[in-house]
Amino acid sequence: MIPVTTCKGQTIALFGLGGSGLATAQALIAGGARVHAFDDNPDRVSQAAKSGVTTADFRELDFATVYALVLAPGVPLTHPKPHWCVELANDANVPIIGDIELFANERNTSAPNSNLVAITGTNGKSTTTALVAHIFSHCGRDVEMGGNIGRAVLTLDEMSNETNYVVECSSYQIDLAPSINPDIGILLNLSSDHLDRHGSMENYAEIKSRLVAGSVRVAIGVDDAYCQKIADCLESDGKEVFRISVKGPVKCGVYSNGEKLISNIDGNETEVAGLEGIASLRGSHNLQNSAAAWIACHLSGLSNEEIQSGLNSFPGLAHRMEVIGSIGHTSFVNDSKATNAESSSMALGSFKNIYWIAGGLAKDAGIEPLRSHFPDVAKAYLVGEAAPEFAAALGNEVAYEISGTIEAAVRHAAKDAGDAKGDSNVVLLSPACASFDQFPNFEARGEAFREAVTRLDGLVPYGETQKW
Ligand code: ADP
Repeated sequence: MIPVTTCKGQTIALFGLGGSGLATAQALIAGGARVHAFDDNPDRVSQAAKSGVTTADFRELDFATVYALVLAPGVPLTHPKPHWCVELANDANVPIIGDIELFANERNTSAPNSNLVAITGTNGKSTTTALVAHIFSHCGRDVEMGGNIGRAVLTLDEMSNETNYVVECSSYQIDLAPSINPDIGILLNLSSDHLDRHGSMENYAEIKSRLVAGSVRVAIGVDDAYCQKIADCLESDGKEVFRISVKGPVKCGVYSNGEKLISNIDGNETEVAGLEGIASLRGSHNLQNSAAAWIACHLSGLSNEEIQSGLNSFPGLAHRMEVIGSIGHTSFVNDSKATNAESSSMALGSFKNIYWIAGGLAKDAGIEPLRSHFPDVAKAYLVGEAAPEFAAALGNEVAYEISGTIEAAVRHAAKDAGDAKGDSNVVLLSPACASFDQFPNFEARGEAFREAVTRLDGLVPYGETQKW
């Protein structure tokens, strides 16, 4: 745990006691703050009280005495409307912050010479964060990884100047971290997401851009117009900006040529890394993630050989194009994390002869944006609530069945792919949907797929993956 000493002796109101909230309360208490914690869920309040955290209904708290409201990132700050506790804090002019802000302030005080790499973007955050952390650790560097992935930041080990902190930040977390100041900030890409919580695309982009605006050096994926504009603005403000593209050369940064990464950071066009044959980094989106990871590691002093060796040994993340195993010429790939069409397009674009398991709780665009990939789909196996809608979209273009459950879909797809000719078929779970109609979350959906695949006769399992 990282005791938060920067709030020592202060009164803190902390709202949101699921997941990271309780850990944040404990880190504040360990650093000497007086914490009053609350949640709309009475069970969570009593659980916190049982673990020794003082609880209080904020409607009975004098906000004039409160130094800061520490908010869990899941609680609405502005949209669709501010939570009632946010209104209480606003009325009393109390700053509203989150655990990443406490972490950033603590680092400035306790370990100012540590290296902080912070990563955001609409897609690819977890992959890039895990990849950077993996490369550091593979090269023998002291590394702690957390934030929106794995462990909440304040549950990481006590701070040290020798540590490389690799922190994934969601837009909600950045909104609560006004003074975040990474040594290296990465903004991968921006596309419309979470607009219910941020009001508009402009507002969402502005929040994401704060992470790089606060960073010493920044890497920005410039393949979308929002990120391009942010890169140009920061550069004209004098910031050291490195650009990333998988579409073509950039003026100072890293771009891809086939599966090679080319850097011109040092003035010359140099091939610095390659992703050929790395199954965990398949697909053009992973070129973007790997280019970002390369820049972070290069700026942190690792050599090209060290970075390449880290890329080669990256085990990949569970539920993101995770290869579970194979039977004969058929591979089984778990991309349960693909909860929208944009994410699924990455997986569909990476394979041919696809036996595609899709469906769940559909997003607005459904699978319309995936139409260009339909020719690569041998057959679709539709599950969950979206099945009739997706069936209508597939129409006569793609063979499909309504399988209903993941379990049935796996059995039928495995049989069809096994019977088919072709030397590389793939049974791919990439639902383009949220999971909540049939599962508590995308992880549970991915595990259901894994279990169904593991039950198939003759499965040869693939190597290890990291479980976050
Ligand atoms: P996040 O943490 O931002 O949600 P992940 O790394 O968990 O992203 O990847 C989730 C899914 O998003 C992956 O399964 C893949 O389909 C897609 N994806 C990953 N990286 C990128 C990227 N750079 N650009 C677009 N899509 C991506």
